[in-house]
Amino acid sequence: MPTYNRADLAFERGEGAWLWTGDGRRFLDFGSGIATASIGHAHPHLVQAIAEQAARVMHTSNLYRIPQAEKLASRLVETSFADSVFFCNSGAEANEGMIKAVRKYHAEQGHPERFVTICFEGAFHGRTLATLAATGNEKYLAGFGPAVQGFRHVPFGNMNALRDAIDGTTAAIMVEPIQGEGGVRPASLDFLRQLRAAADEFGILLALDEVQTGMGRSGKLWAHQWAGIEPDVMSSAKGIGGGFPLGAILAKERVAQYLKPGTHGSTYGGNPLACAAGNAVLDVILAPGFLDGVDRVARHLWRGLLELAHRHPAVAEGVQGAGLLVGLKLRPEVSNGEMQNAAAAEGLLTVAAGMNVLRLAPPLIITEAEADEALRLLDRACLRCTPSKARDAAK
Ligand SMILES: *Cc1c(COP(=O)(O)O)cnc(C)c1O
Repeated sequence: MPTYNRADLAFERGEGAWLWTGDGRRFLDFGSGIATASIGHAHPHLVQAIAEQAARVMHTSNLYRIPQAEKLASRLVETSFADSVFFCNSGAEANEGMIKAVRKYHAEQGHPERFVTICFEGAFHGRTLATLAATGNEKYLAGFGPAVQGFRHVPFGNMNALRDAIDGTTAAIMVEPIQGEGGVRPASLDFLRQLRAAADEFGILLALDEVQTGMGRSGKLWAHQWAGIEPDVMSSAKGIGGGFPLGAILAKERVAQYLKPGTHGSTYGGNPLACAAGNAVLDVILAPGFLDGVDRVARHLWRGLLELAHRHPAVAEGVQGAGLLVGLKLRPEVSNGEMQNAAAAEGLLTVAAGMNVLRLAPPLIITEAEADEALRLLDRACLRCTPSKARDAAK
């Protein structure tokens, strides 16, 4: 179906942060298949885990115990706020389940009228009918019939608007610690703390969408850890499988307890193959010093990007995001699509995001030398995109 605007590139092979096309062209991948190939391409440990599991047993369904899923769930519980995990296959599915979980919680508490999730302008939560309603973007909703009920949107970062929106129908606040698709816009740490406080004050749940920000992308395992808060429930996907489709809902027991047999499910969710991949990714990310390394290389990249933005004021306005989820905010005269093409022409893969931002989300395993190489290629892409008037003025 004509769903996508694809670039005319097809990759045959990858290694670490690099991809090669069939005709031998090499690209530095600072998109990671949209923040998903978290430990790079063809990571030997991930490849081996998938190959070995595929040769044993791939799929049995949730009619039976799945040791690989039990292991992955207990490791996620040990390293997060959560008591309990549900596995699925994508970010939208994780969010869909998270929305069901917050509604069920209030229904079981005797408050079925509390079914509204407050979301934020600029959010992205997925493409299923409910997550589309949670996303709330008119462009994405158009033509798909009546939006699923139970979502309300307020401006991102506006605590007064958020508090005004809370009433007797509110079930939860759902937020990305850093809006990814919406433009790599970080919530301030103070805003996240105030959301936690408001949720506690009104007896509603704090639901974090860490599909893009989680699994080490921010330099901590979960981005909300920078704020020192804990959600009640959280979604994860993208980087959690390192490129293998895997999603998860993590929750406190007081929420998870109500998702009894028959309330929710997935045929594929958490199958042996997907969880073997998830465990292999966790082996890498939880290895001593790995996240410190992500933080270090991210700070190196940020320093270079801030200099680059300073050197190219006719192209870039600033740098935003956190860790290795970075947005280069572009001047209105330069579109992010144009900049993305210019970067690709120089051999650097990036991803556009909302609000005219060029998104960089390299694999978490990049070296400082690879960050420097990306900066060099981006510098050339900036020259390609410098409007001719600005170029003349600089002469
Ligand atoms: C990508 C994304 C989703 C949707 O994930 P899919 O796997 O495409 O369904 C949801 N929320 C956020 C924050 C995302 O970045």
